[in-house]
Amino acid sequence: MPYNEVMLIHYDSQYWSLKSVTPRLPKAGETIHGSKFFIGFGGKGANQCIQAARLGARTAMVCKVGEDSFGNNYIENFKNNDVCTDFVGQTAEAATGTASIIVNAEGQNAIVIVAGANLLLDSSDLAKASGAIHSARVMVCQLEINPQMSLEALKVAHNSGVKTIFNPAPAIADLEAEFYTHSDIFCCNESEAEILTGIAVTRLTDASKAGRALLDRGCHLVLVTLGGEGCVIVSKDDPTPKHVATNKVTAVDTTGAGDSFIGALAFYLAHYPHLSIEEMVKRSNCIASVSVQSAGTQTSFPYRKDLPQDIF
Ligand code: ADP
Repeated sequence: MPYNEVMLIHYDSQYWSLKSVTPRLPKAGETIHGSKFFIGFGGKGANQCIQAARLGARTAMVCKVGEDSFGNNYIENFKNNDVCTDFVGQTAEAATGTASIIVNAEGQNAIVIVAGANLLLDSSDLAKASGAIHSARVMVCQLEINPQMSLEALKVAHNSGVKTIFNPAPAIADLEAEFYTHSDIFCCNESEAEILTGIAVTRLTDASKAGRALLDRGCHLVLVTLGGEGCVIVSKDDPTPKHVATNKVTAVDTTGAGDSFIGALAFYLAHYPHLSIEEMVKRSNCIASVSVQSAGTQTSFPYRKDLPQDIF
């Protein structure tokens, strides 16, 4: 295997995001003029993978795109970010995943996600990547593909001693128990924590309570991210919740902040495993805070060279 032990595997989705800005949302059957159109790369798995790669991690993406120009361009995007594409499959049976977004003047949006090829990622794709997974240091999974495929990938990694980070997004209220028991780090945001536990997370104490409830379901460590308030850590080793505050900044665009945070966390777990989890979270907070200060998703994710060097 040409991979070394610091490799990070990301097993999830990629999407093209197609965003139109309009004065109002169109009614059924109506055609309206928009003022701007943006096209960008997205998908939680791909975003997290690209953030980790920009920090210097050797990463591979396991995902599926269509045999279309969107798919070809996405593969090019991975290559441009030094992400290994050996396990990026292409299929003629579905189109590359897309998210078509309309945003009105009030900032309200209407979004249509077509998962397309993402939903065709299957066990045979996992089998092709299993050698690389076994020799990796960290595996990151999310829920934008068929959840059973995410669970299978988590199990393969966890059972072979690879550290697993699971990001339950988009959240499913009745998540199977095995997702918890196969997660070394279970990382969610406030709304995901609420969907999973039924505890409304509006204050720090709620985040700690939700974190403890998730820990009780069998994961080793829970992180609940709290936007500009940073993150709460609850761990089996020390069940007293810890709040890791961050330098709250005025956000320009928070899309993908959580993905920047998780990509950074995966990088630290693979490259600086001796650091305490508090320190990893503190540094990941710092990286995610940079990402919210410019527009876009992957376009806002910082490169190692543009960050304070004392976090490496
Ligand atoms: P998501 O994007 O999943 O909703 P959050 O909103 O919780 O996730 O943000 C993830 C991380 O991004 C936070 O834990 C924090 O590190 C960083 N972050 C988000 N908003 C801000 C902000 N206004 N100032 C500083 N950091 C922020």
